[in-house]
Amino acid sequence: MKFGRAYCEQLEKNLSPYQARELYTDEDGDHYDEVLTFLCEDKNCRSALTPVGIYMTRKSKRALHFRTKDEHKNGCNFLELVDTDGKPRKPSLNEDDYKVSAFPSEFNLTPPKRKSNGGGSIVDSDDDAGSTGGGTAGSSGGARRKTSSKTRYLDLVVDCFLSGDDESKKGLFTIGAKTKPFQRFFKKVEYFGDEAGLIYYGIIDRLEFYPGIGIGIRFNKRVEVADSYHRIWVNVPLAKIDQSRRKKAFMAEITELKKAFDQKEEVLAFFVGAYPIKTAITLKEGDTFDIYQAELSSIDHLSLTFP
Ligand SMILES: [Zn+2]
Repeated sequence: MKFGRAYCEQLEKNLSPYQARELYTDEDGDHYDEVLTFLCEDKNCRSALTPVGIYMTRKSKRALHFRTKDEHKNGCNFLELVDTDGKPRKPSLNEDDYKVSAFPSEFNLTPPKRKSNGGGSIVDSDDDAGSTGGGTAGSSGGARRKTSSKTRYLDLVVDCFLSGDDESKKGLFTIGAKTKPFQRFFKKVEYFGDEAGLIYYGIIDRLEFYPGIGIGIRFNKRVEVADSYHRIWVNVPLAKIDQSRRKKAFMAEITELKKAFDQKEEVLAFFVGAYPIKTAITLKEGDTFDIYQAELSSIDHLSLTFP
């Protein structure tokens, strides 16, 4: 069985897999680089769960989750997952079929800065999505999980998009001042001209390190403007990398990206909160051409998906 939330033994709190990944990668936190222990949410059960994908440098297309390691105790509330309409869910048979069961209602582009006094503050965030649902033993009777939730984890939003849950994708979603059905926030990067303020994505085919400036990532598709085609780049400024609390994890991911290119693997990139702007490039010979560049205001606005 698979779960979108687990009880963390060290923190004595329930965590989503995205929160767990953040604790692991947050260099300023008390649990940086520490693999935590996860247990069933039912306090009368507390059987061991295995984190899936959470501690891997390469984020794959599979949604982050937890899965059963030891048998759950008899009477565990999570043994029989029940949908909101009362029908028991079919147990998942394959490792790859985990789906995020609760889509967030909003992506928070500018979450408040977390306190630097350790991981505890992360858990008190507004992020409550990703739960597999079901009751929680000992909780006030019949209390339902929140139906709306903000998240600051682009990986969660991407996992929802990749989930194939077309029904949930019809639900409303908000980024900044824009609210529309979840699905319609996703735009192939070569069509960015259709609308600003969305999540743009595509396969990437080149990585550049600009000393003192940052990292550039190029998409394999070009944008057509007035009958000519132009390259699209998403740039991550060095200052944004340096000021991030998860700089090491980000750079480790970029190293994996380089390896992936060397092995001709297809990596998908998603970005949000930035829009490609035309930039004229002048060659040494004096020729000029246009490219389109989007500059990220946070490394948290980029999500890479490895094969
Ligand atoms: Zn259990």
